Amino acid sequence: MDIFGIDPRASSAEKLVPPTPLPHVSRRALARVRDRIEAPTTCPHCGECVGLVSNAEIYNGREYGDWPYVYLCTGCRAYVGLHPDTDLPLGTLADEETREARKSVKPGFMRICRERFGGDRSAAYSWLAERMDIETKACHFGFFDAYQCAQAERIIYESMTGRRARP
Ligand SMILES: [Zn+2]
Repeated sequence: MDIFGIDPRASSAEKLVPPTPLPHVSRRALARVRDRIEAPTTCPHCGECVGLVSNAEIYNGREYGDWPYVYLCTGCRAYVGLHPDTDLPLGTLADEETREARKSVKPGFMRICRERFGGDRSAAYSWLAERMDIETKACHFGFFDAYQCAQAERIIYESMTGRRARP
């Protein structure tokens, strides 16, 4: 997760050439993505090459969603989706363990976000970042590994219930 901020292509005059198999890449959509990270080229889990493919490759031959593309590791098949109308990944490549961990932490986060921060996600992420001792811009579930997800889940649980989580 090295590059944050707005994509420079969003305001450049040069013609945007979408990488295969994307039909287009939209400047407006690029500008909407804050905290972007670079497209992955090698897998953080196994080190193999990563390709940009239709998500039919992971959903049994059927494309799924409005922007049906993923970055997919050719080795361990970890993957991550893309921000709509862009070639920007939603987060880091996730293997099954990471995907499950990210899924597991989400409901608790949504709840604390709603109940304590009036639905203000940025405020909730800042709060969580401080407790996890990481920078706010690095605090997104799409960037977390399984360990960080578990850490976040514990922090949220303890804060919501006032009880210590079982280790
Ligand atoms: Zn891999």
